Amino acid sequence: MPSTVAGPEIERLVQLLARLPGLGPRSARRAALHLIRKRETLLQPLVEAMRVAEERIVTCSVCGNVDSRDPCTVCCDERRDPATIVVVESVGDLWALERAGAIQARYHVLGGVLSPLDGVGPSDLNLSALVARVARGGVSEVILAVNATVDGQTTAHYIIDLLSGYPVKATRLAHGVPVGGELDYLDDGTLAAAMRQRTAF
Ligand code: ZN
Repeated sequence: MPSTVAGPEIERLVQLLARLPGLGPRSARRAALHLIRKRETLLQPLVEAMRVAEERIVTCSVCGNVDSRDPCTVCCDERRDPATIVVVESVGDLWALERAGAIQARYHVLGGVLSPLDGVGPSDLNLSALVARVARGGVSEVILAVNATVDGQTTAHYIIDLLSGYPVKATRLAHGVPVGGELDYLDDGTLAAAMRQRTAF
């Protein structure tokens, strides 16, 4: 049995940190120690930032993004094309697309994908708000930027059916060779999809 080196307060901090994505028990212990050492420059500002986040962060009633305002910063950004809605599974995916500077559009966050095995049905996703946005008019394209998984693609088809009665173009992300990718290293599914979806020079 390893002997305990810290009191329950520190153990609790370590246990909570270990629940963060990407942190195992060892790195959580290292992070806890770092926070304790940097009490004034890191631990206290972090506590304050977390308190403010807990108090102020809400889910956007328009798109499902998280922000400190509702409607969110993305929905209020006048420079974005209101006629294009990018549908994503999660806020993380929205942030990834924004990081890439891929498009100046509005978003819609589903909050997951349809997954019969996990008991996730249409009513568990942010779908009715999407239909309402399209039904209000002014939307010409819905880009289904869902993950290239079976559940992601099932969800995309379900949304296409939902929107079939509206004059809106549904598109999806291309599947193919990543930028800088070498053919020899690609998995068979990606390579086959890239060949099927080849484009003209
Ligand atoms: Zn929003």
